[in-house]
Amino acid sequence: MLSRFKLLGKARPNIWRAQIAKHNCKSVSTYERYGASQTHGEVPQLIHQREHKYAEGKVYNGFLCEHVEYISDFELTSYTLRHQKTGTELWHIDRNDANNVFSINFRTTPFDSTGLPHILEHLVLCGSKNYPVRDPFFKMLNRSVATFMNAMTGPDYTIYPFSTMNETDFRNLQRIYLDAVFRPNLLYLDFLQEGWRLENEDIQDCNSKLIIKGVVYNEMKGAFSENSQIFSQNLLNNMLPDHTYGNVSGGNPLEIPKLSHKDLIEFHQKYYHPSNSRIYSYGSFDLTKTLKLLDEEYLSERTGIDNSYSEIPRQQRWQQPRNVHISSRLDNMGAAFDRQNQIAIAMLMCDVTNLQESFELNVLSEVLIRGPNSAFYKSLIEPNFSGGYNRSTGYSSDTKDTAFVVGLQDLRVEDFTKFNELFDQTIAHSIENGFESQHVESILHSLELSLKHQSPHFGNALLFNSTALWNNNGDIVSNLRVSEMISSLRTSLSRNKTYFQEKIQKYFANNTHRLTLTMSPDALYQENFKQAESEMLRQITDALDKEKFKQIFQSGLELDAFQKLKPNTDILPCLTVNDVSEPPKWPKLIVETIQNVQTQICKVSTNEITYLKCLFNASSLSQEETLLLPLFCNVINNMGTCKYDFREFDKQVLSKTSGLDFKLNFVENVRDAKSYKIGVMMDTYALDKNVQELFYFCQELLLNFDFTDTERLKMLIENYISNISVGVASSGHLYAMLGANALVTDAGNLKSLLFGIDHIEFMKTLVQDNNTIDICKTLKSIGKKIFLKNNMKVAINTTESYLATALQHYRNFLQTLPSLDKTKESTEINLLDPSCQHYIMDIPVNYCAKAFFAVSYLHPDHPKLRVLAKLLSAKYLLPVVREKNGAYGAGAKISSDGIFSFYSYRDPHSTKTLDTFDKTYEWTCLEKNVIDQQALFEAKLGVLQQLDSPIAPGNIGIDYLLYAVSQDMFQNYRSRMLSVTVDELHATVDKYLKKPPTNYGKCIIGPEIKELESSHGWKIIK
Ligand SMILES: [Zn+2]
Repeated sequence: MLSRFKLLGKARPNIWRAQIAKHNCKSVSTYERYGASQTHGEVPQLIHQREHKYAEGKVYNGFLCEHVEYISDFELTSYTLRHQKTGTELWHIDRNDANNVFSINFRTTPFDSTGLPHILEHLVLCGSKNYPVRDPFFKMLNRSVATFMNAMTGPDYTIYPFSTMNETDFRNLQRIYLDAVFRPNLLYLDFLQEGWRLENEDIQDCNSKLIIKGVVYNEMKGAFSENSQIFSQNLLNNMLPDHTYGNVSGGNPLEIPKLSHKDLIEFHQKYYHPSNSRIYSYGSFDLTKTLKLLDEEYLSERTGIDNSYSEIPRQQRWQQPRNVHISSRLDNMGAAFDRQNQIAIAMLMCDVTNLQESFELNVLSEVLIRGPNSAFYKSLIEPNFSGGYNRSTGYSSDTKDTAFVVGLQDLRVEDFTKFNELFDQTIAHSIENGFESQHVESILHSLELSLKHQSPHFGNALLFNSTALWNNNGDIVSNLRVSEMISSLRTSLSRNKTYFQEKIQKYFANNTHRLTLTMSPDALYQENFKQAESEMLRQITDALDKEKFKQIFQSGLELDAFQKLKPNTDILPCLTVNDVSEPPKWPKLIVETIQNVQTQICKVSTNEITYLKCLFNASSLSQEETLLLPLFCNVINNMGTCKYDFREFDKQVLSKTSGLDFKLNFVENVRDAKSYKIGVMMDTYALDKNVQELFYFCQELLLNFDFTDTERLKMLIENYISNISVGVASSGHLYAMLGANALVTDAGNLKSLLFGIDHIEFMKTLVQDNNTIDICKTLKSIGKKIFLKNNMKVAINTTESYLATALQHYRNFLQTLPSLDKTKESTEINLLDPSCQHYIMDIPVNYCAKAFFAVSYLHPDHPKLRVLAKLLSAKYLLPVVREKNGAYGAGAKISSDGIFSFYSYRDPHSTKTLDTFDKTYEWTCLEKNVIDQQALFEAKLGVLQQLDSPIAPGNIGIDYLLYAVSQDMFQNYRSRMLSVTVDELHATVDKYLKKPPTNYGKCIIGPEIKELESSHGWKIIK
């Protein structure tokens, strides 16, 4: 989703573990929330002779080069430049990486909760001097092949980042972004649309009642429908109450209407001054062009000012700990009412600019929290009185003062005291007994391994990891010397046996800046909000005179007319066919059969890491076993083996590998979509020198997994259920699409039971109706049935020089695996009769979806429908459902399973949106001219953003492993997609949208809609 409002950072297991390789397919979509895409970007090569492109002390286009440094950990050269006239700092990272990044950052420190910085973030993207087009940002989504494009408001910063592998695209976006932030139009009508406004419910009737509307107003109502967000927002505000962090930078809906257009203009003048901005550039494109554009167009005409006005002071430490209690929404999909509470203890640590200290406290936090060998896991999680750590748990360095947070979700109010006692006991115990060195070592190893691991979004990750530090004037370059920080910590630990204990004494035991935040559900939460909202509305309207009422009516009409104006998008730059005709190049896959196992090998520069993926076909399992697969994948690596208990296994595995991850895959046949396979994928990697151990641990787990400890399993299951219930509201459109898909085919139905809302219900019932011993038995039988040699496909990605050794270890590994008789390959898919379902959730917004079966992935019409889906999203659904009807997002897509879906996100309407979906064909008839060459090309670019998205070296070839889609098939798909014509698109509309589909489903997730109960074909699920 565009424009993400960012709260206090979540627990980050590892600061440099950028975006961990989630297996994501380029051609074929997976069931991932906001799937992060992977790179085929060129892998950085070692530069032997280093020549600096810019020299310290020299001036380039008005920028003085202040500092140059080569960072060997990441094979990059960092250049720090400063614009002489305005003082604007520019940080350039020169690296042999095709996925280039650019970002403009501002330090924005709000002093109220009207959402000023957030609304401004929206408004600057509503048109600027050179690009006076409404929402150029959204329009550019279709005129670019960006791999990332967004704008975010944090607690004390607003950033505008994008990334792309195409240089023409890079220059286009750079111009638009710079013009947007430095010369926005900030029109009053845009303020009404994006911020907040009073409007007649029926804009044609001046006597109809007034309501509050606005994109951000609705967005923030939606943001706080997620309890974990309410919790982390309150944690931040209460832990750092004295200055800017005491406010909600995204906006509290009840405060937003205090904001005026004038405030906004003033805020822009003050905080978006070039002297208060920081500019980031990353990758291999020529920096000189960037410097020239910045200097000539935006900076040379401005004068520099002292930007210390936006600095954030250190939080004054408290003399006494504090306690705060808040209420939350009662979550009808969550735990039982009496268990739906949360608690956390938060403590301020050091200043974010104290690099080594902050780094060590981060490691120490991991030692205290992560995995079964950590002190808090043993004391808080294992006694099993909660649903596990909550989302706020971890070390956070997103603010001026860093913080340590540990908290639990889904516990009883009676256990709050216990939590507090256990916290103090754990701290005391750790100070007395210290830590096991092997546990500390496994955490340091993970950190070192992550330095070598290549992420396709390294440039973005680097920006996000540096933003808070940079914003607080920290030394972002030194912060990249991670190896040095690790070795310095190792030295301290070996010189002083009680090094960490002393830190705990100082930062934990003796820390009086300690907040205990508790949260309990209130059945009237939503009702109370509604009352407060109508009371606010009453107060505002009471103060209005006749003249004001008239003005509101007038501006409602004006805005409506304004929204209906045809935007002059010709002003915006756009790529041409020539810019994108070249398909991305990847190393060829070699497919061999080794000991009867299909093995694909990819020789690629991996920076001394070997990647291993083993895919086990699980299609022969019984229905009962299949439904337990998500749980199986979640617990199999957490139970230990016959030889090692779970603590020992965790420690050993993480000292040598990235860990053994298991993930469930559901794959429809790409040729005809008439059958599906279910697979369990084991995904891991290790430094080349540890590959023998990597295979050893895989073998140990696959052969000797152990489900005998039923008490542990019981705890893991309860934590699992708590975790899957978190986040439904924030990814509601994905759940709605799964819910609609479930009504189209029996495979879709099963998918919803494995990944959707139905899965949450299924797991709760399972635990109520079965004892753990029986569940253990089923899990054990799953492992015995699927971990077979003749049931497995393997992918190995490694460097050419190491391949022979890797294969030797691999052959030895294969010899140990058992084989059984041939198992079932796949299951047939059946279409279902049309139906609709409504999941009732106590939230203020809706998520709607409609799905129908179209064609399989390899059918010639699939690329046409994919282009059509993009076109409908941009030209029909976004203008109507988002811009006109106030939803936060909307779109259409076709997935690899052949299902075509429509969806809306944080939508104030429900059935109205479904009608919009149904009326798609009518719209194409009325707006026949909309499908022209330009619209078609833009839609193709939208598809290309997905097809050409960068993929990590460790993930090359994943489409072949999962879907048997070869590189040639993919290239064919890509060229077929690029060759789609306007006539073909019209024919596709007639073929698939004219007649109502024979197999379809509709789904609404959101507050109860009474009239649906009597409506035909609707199933209501409470
Ligand atoms: Zn927003």
